[in-house]
Amino acid sequence: MNYANMIEEKNLKKTFIVATLCSTLIGTFTSSMGLWDRVQDKRKQTKKDTKQDDEIKKLREAVEKSESRSKEREEQLRKRDELGYNFEQSGALIQRQYDEGYGRLGRRFAQGDTATENQLQAQIIALQQTVIHVLQDALYNDRQLTRADMAKLIAASNAAREGSLDALRQQQNRLAIEAPSPPRSLSLSAPKRASTVVESDPLYCRYSLDLQYIPNKPLAASFAPGRDCKCPACGLRLDVTADDFWQIGKRTPVLIAEKGYEKEILETREFHLGQRFVIKCHTADGEYACVLCNKNRDVDAICRSVESLVKHVGTFHDIKELEREMDLVERQIPLALPAPAH
Ligand SMILES: [Zn+2]
Ligand SMILES: [Zn+2]
Repeated sequence: MNYANMIEEKNLKKTFIVATLCSTLIGTFTSSMGLWDRVQDKRKQTKKDTKQDDEIKKLREAVEKSESRSKEREEQLRKRDELGYNFEQSGALIQRQYDEGYGRLGRRFAQGDTATENQLQAQIIALQQTVIHVLQDALYNDRQLTRADMAKLIAASNAAREGSLDALRQQQNRLAIEAPSPPRSLSLSAPKRASTVVESDPLYCRYSLDLQYIPNKPLAASFAPGRDCKCPACGLRLDVTADDFWQIGKRTPVLIAEKGYEKEILETREFHLGQRFVIKCHTADGEYACVLCNKNRDVDAICRSVESLVKHVGTFHDIKELEREMDLVERQIPLALPAPAH
């Protein structure tokens, strides 16, 4: 066991409280479904056991049963599907809302504030209480899970989902208003932030700013193939080599003229994100702050890894923003697929 890792992990859990609570919440949806299945299985088992004493009754019922059983099983499966779908959707929606907030606000969103912490905790407790209550009741009274049980669980799931989505949305608004991105004294392209701001620590490493302001400045020798990828200014090793690049594909409808008619086709445009873009996003803390957000948006997106930076650029920014960024190079793709004909 690596002691240093343990400390880091403990610290991480404590700091990124909203991230942790969201994953607990999503986990509750999944584990609830597992509990439902187990209660249902147990119920089937006991049903079989008690029936074993009553052979005659069993035989007599066999004929009617065979007909109604398939219906019953169908009904059970349908209930399960409906519930499972609801739980799955709730978890996915919360995950999406979290990702959006994190994409826009970065670690500040993952850390969150006390209001969100309390709201999310309340949602988790309420959901878990309902799940435990409903399933225990069925288990102790040795009865089948009913439509009413399912309705209670779905209501609890809906409430937990809506409550959590609200909490995350409100936090996103709060954080965006409370703390607009810190001012950057060197920022040439952001007059909107210039007026009454107080000087604070610069977001980017000095070397990142050099690359941002001098577009054709070649990369330092340490970033050449086979070298150690250490930043000449802050000394941090950056997780991108000369050979690394990522493709960002964007599908977009375009109108073309064909035999005198205008026709809409879906065109895929591909941008390559490479070493220079990544390097000029790095902060003195070894994180990556999206330069597109820094230039065009009110709030910075700070990503903990190169992968999440790439994912952020690909999902959060539109083609126009990608086009304008000189360190995102567009590659021509020969194939254009026609849109479905109407
Ligand atoms: Zn640096
Ligand atoms: Zn961005």
